[in-house]
Amino acid sequence: MGLPTRDALRATTPPTYRWTRHVALIVAFAAAGLAVCLYALGGLGGADTLVIGVAFLLTNLGEYVAHRWPLHRPMFPRAVYERHVREHHAFFTYDRMAVDAWPEIRWVLFPPWALPLLVATVVPLALLVGAVAGTRAAWLFVLVAIAYYALYEVLHALAHLPDDAPLARVGAVRALTHHHRVHHDPALMRSWNFNFAIPLFDVLLHTRYAGVPPEADRVR
Ligand SMILES: [Zn+2]
Ligand SMILES: [Zn+2]
Repeated sequence: MGLPTRDALRATTPPTYRWTRHVALIVAFAAAGLAVCLYALGGLGGADTLVIGVAFLLTNLGEYVAHRWPLHRPMFPRAVYERHVREHHAFFTYDRMAVDAWPEIRWVLFPPWALPLLVATVVPLALLVGAVAGTRAAWLFVLVAIAYYALYEVLHALAHLPDDAPLARVGAVRALTHHHRVHHDPALMRSWNFNFAIPLFDVLLHTRYAGVPPEADRVR
């Protein structure tokens, strides 16, 4: 199955697309979600640290599971596979990770409907958390999921900046970018480096590809 070229993908951009509106919608959804959670919680305190830590672990696992399976296997909901593999992975490969111009952030960011979809997925889990650990824990769980998503969008955008962008040269960003670059090789994407920002479950489940893959392992 051949993946579309950059030019073929560019040709699919609707004339009404505005990358600034795409970014603004994501920022607005994330900010509104975080504000609702913080309002319901009445702010955060030291006593929340343990729950936030556990919620972070669950979210990191959720990112891993979502990326390893529905985003890389054609299953329900199929639209997320199409968007991730046949657009994001087609546009960015091991040898060509950077956008050429700002409007191409379209192929980096999740579509604006991804955060509402994430919240719809997280709410039943949060209700489960609430039944076990109380309402405050449930709100903290939703808060962490939205904050993790927002952090993911920012760091993932950094990984697809041109190499000479000032932020792309920061050591931690370069390390993240390399981890993600390996995942962007079509021959390696279904097997390696599914976590993005913090590769905890890649380490625990032995899917972390450390180092530079030899040419023979890659597709060019
Ligand atoms: Zn990427
Ligand atoms: Zn992927």
